[in-house]
Amino acid sequence: MAIQSKLPHVGTSIFAKMSALAAQHQAVNLSQGFPDFPCDPKLLALVTEAMQNGQNQYAPFIGLLPLREQISQKVAASYQVNYSPETEITITSGGTEALFCAISALVRMGDEIIIFEPAYDSYAPVIALCGGVVKRIALKYPHYKVDWDEVKRLISPRTKAIILNTPHNPCGTVWSRNDMLALSALVQQNNLTVISDEVYEHLIFDNVRHESVLRYPELRERSFVVFSFGKTFHATGWKVGYCLAPKALSGEFRKVHQFVTFSTSTPFQVAIAKYLENPAHYEILPDFYQQKRDYFLKSLHQTPFQFKPSAGTYFQLAYYGHLSDEPDVAFAERLTRDYGVAVIPVSAFYSDGTDEKVIRFCFAKREETLDLAAQRLELLAKLLV
Ligand code: PMP
Ligand code: GLN
Repeated sequence: MAIQSKLPHVGTSIFAKMSALAAQHQAVNLSQGFPDFPCDPKLLALVTEAMQNGQNQYAPFIGLLPLREQISQKVAASYQVNYSPETEITITSGGTEALFCAISALVRMGDEIIIFEPAYDSYAPVIALCGGVVKRIALKYPHYKVDWDEVKRLISPRTKAIILNTPHNPCGTVWSRNDMLALSALVQQNNLTVISDEVYEHLIFDNVRHESVLRYPELRERSFVVFSFGKTFHATGWKVGYCLAPKALSGEFRKVHQFVTFSTSTPFQVAIAKYLENPAHYEILPDFYQQKRDYFLKSLHQTPFQFKPSAGTYFQLAYYGHLSDEPDVAFAERLTRDYGVAVIPVSAFYSDGTDEKVIRFCFAKREETLDLAAQRLELLAKLLV
């Protein structure tokens, strides 16, 4: 029996596809975003301890209180804001689940939601599942700057929300204070809700401050803000994240969350709550990843790619249009198959497949991995001249 697809245009994600191709060709996998180095043994020990202590049954559906309390303290220290562990913080099974719950709690048939492309792959399908209409602003290589007049023109009486992502996957750009002020003015004038995807909050470089929605009271009061411990603690497979939102919004969010997963894995929550007692564990991240970015950029200099250093996330974009006319999907596949380095074609982040001949590398890797990738990419340079 077949059913009528609710997502007829959705196939297997590009991340799964490129990781599979990388495995098939023993390529260095700089495609899907995940670290290839271990997380802190102290954190692993805390998880083991929680399991051995018998903390293996359902957590409260909104998350363990000690974890919600630690998050409340963390955001107070980082952004000078108060979020109530009781009513405004919900633990989720990763940022992806939080995005799903926020969109599902909000969007009704015919509502228009503005997103910026290139966009993370989950936003549009979830909006579609809710009967919403995706309205897109295309950002362009190399600056990927938002034209706020264009956003203003796209807003209609049916517009319900704007989804943003800073630091941005895949562009590696970060929004400025002026972007946030422009957003704030528009959402207030038009009474819009905001969903802010800030899973890379700590991966921001060159001493730039993360302009979280949390820093802006007029935005905060109308926002779902999404975070992920997968990115923060090098454990993308654990799928623990959280959503901050004012009480009324969190109430609706929690109604959806309780029927998506009910609750998130208990021992991971116990461990992360204890680990968060030491803020140094996340305060070191900008330096840690900036070093990786710089290491990778040095090796890219030996290759024929053109690039602008990433300002945030663990991704680096590179332009190859001066080397080849090939579409980016074909180029990424060829790089994986023939040169042994797997990357993501950026057209995958545009609904209309906009191809600006740009590929994405993930540099959340050990130096040996980045060295091996660089050696292989240098070979590409020799073969092209
Ligand atoms: N948003 C963006 C922009 C991401 O890159 C990711 C990571 N894949 C997520 C959300 C989802 O985070 P998680 O892995 O915690 O579900
Ligand atoms: N966020 C990761 C990336 O952009 C992938 C997550 C996933 O595979 N769904 O590579």
